Amino acid sequence: MGLEGKVAVVTGASRGIGRAIALRLARDGALVCVNYRSNAEAAQAVVGEVEAAGGEAFALPADVGSVEQVGRFFEALDAELDARRGDRRFDILVNNAGIAEIIPVSTTTEKAFDRVFATNVKGPFFVTQQALPRLRDGGRVINVSSNLSRNPMPMAMAYCMTKAAIDNFTVGLAIELGRRGITVNTLAPGLTATDLNAPMRDDPKLVEIYSAMTALGRIGEAGDIARAAAFLASDDSAWVTGQYLEASGGLGLVAP
Ligand code: NAD
Repeated sequence: MGLEGKVAVVTGASRGIGRAIALRLARDGALVCVNYRSNAEAAQAVVGEVEAAGGEAFALPADVGSVEQVGRFFEALDAELDARRGDRRFDILVNNAGIAEIIPVSTTTEKAFDRVFATNVKGPFFVTQQALPRLRDGGRVINVSSNLSRNPMPMAMAYCMTKAAIDNFTVGLAIELGRRGITVNTLAPGLTATDLNAPMRDDPKLVEIYSAMTALGRIGEAGDIARAAAFLASDDSAWVTGQYLEASGGLGLVAP
């Protein structure tokens, strides 16, 4: 198990990769806070799944792009942890919530640009800021980026730029928090089957191309990413910080 007695916060955990990470950390023994933006029913279903498997979780709302909502989220978290553990501190923060805008530079509007930066950059920044005084020394921050941070895709430039910003944030934060024994790492999924890219995956030709470019011969599942997150959340990664871990099955290693 490995995470008994630990508390984890996973943003954007009502579906997709965040859901899979929440389920996995709970299976490993952590009490998990399932953050969601608006779909309370889906978040509650994740809590239900955790509880049915004998774990412990609860759900709390916040749009991570709103500093005000993030503030209220942490006040609610304090109250919940006080009630459950008599201690407001937690151990693992997974900055997972993210959105993609698949638009070329030429037609990206200011609104779309601001939307993707608010969720993907401002979100993790201010969530982490609020988390810092509450994180236990020896804790973990896992920032979910993307393989596209290093391999920009012209069709989604604003998105790719947000993920490059996250990679940068990871390194600076790792330096800032190192003396507290808190590790900070980037987890970069490659193409992974979730609702985020459902329209893309409806095109069998594209899936075939991506699978062919991947050393392991297929696109990822959310569970593939959750296993890598479990490593970064565990004691086994205690000497790993400021690093970029790509979980993509070797996407791009095979020439198209
Ligand atoms: P998804 O759309 O299935 O899930 C994203 C979750 O984040 C949803 O639950 C959504 O409600 C939540 N969310 C979005 N905006 C939010 C906000 N402002 N506040 C709180 N929650 C918010 O997508 P996913 O594929 O599971 O993506 C998870 C993370 O993985 C994202 O950061 C994404 O950029 C990254 N990623 C995904 C892929 C992929 O191929 N699926 C590849 C690389 C990186």
